[in-house]
Amino acid sequence: MAASEYPIEFRRKIRSMIKKAPNGCWLWIGPRHPKGYGRVSYKGKGYYAHRQLKEMCDGKIPDGQEVHHKCRNPSCVNPAHLECVTHAENMRAAALAGAWSGKKNSNAKHTGEEVARVRLLHSLGVTSPSIEEIMGIPYRTVREYITNPSSWPSIGN
Ligand SMILES: [Zn+2]
Repeated sequence: MAASEYPIEFRRKIRSMIKKAPNGCWLWIGPRHPKGYGRVSYKGKGYYAHRQLKEMCDGKIPDGQEVHHKCRNPSCVNPAHLECVTHAENMRAAALAGAWSGKKNSNAKHTGEEVARVRLLHSLGVTSPSIEEIMGIPYRTVREYITNPSSWPSIGN
């Protein structure tokens, strides 16, 4: 699912199951897997909560990749604490380097998908400074995307 496609009921459900801890973790207070991972069901299908949050923020998790908790807390669903990991470390390092150089350019044009993610996070109750941290988009730009509809690029790139 693209970020702009997550139905409002699904977002509300996810938002109602997150409790933000003082250490920055977003604790899942809904159903959990025996190993601690948050689970969420929607229209008869079950999903891992952390994978859904990661996809909402960073886009589809590449095939064969797993989402790793940098904070070592399996019930945490904070996208900033999650990273996709693969066995192909070299490719991953290159991809991260590319993503990071794009993120550091505050004048970078964002795609419709990225803008949709900003709005999605905002609709989940994430504050603008947190969106800045999670997406690597400057605060001023985040606010612009949220408050000024005419600044949104057309969806679909
Ligand atoms: Zn965490």
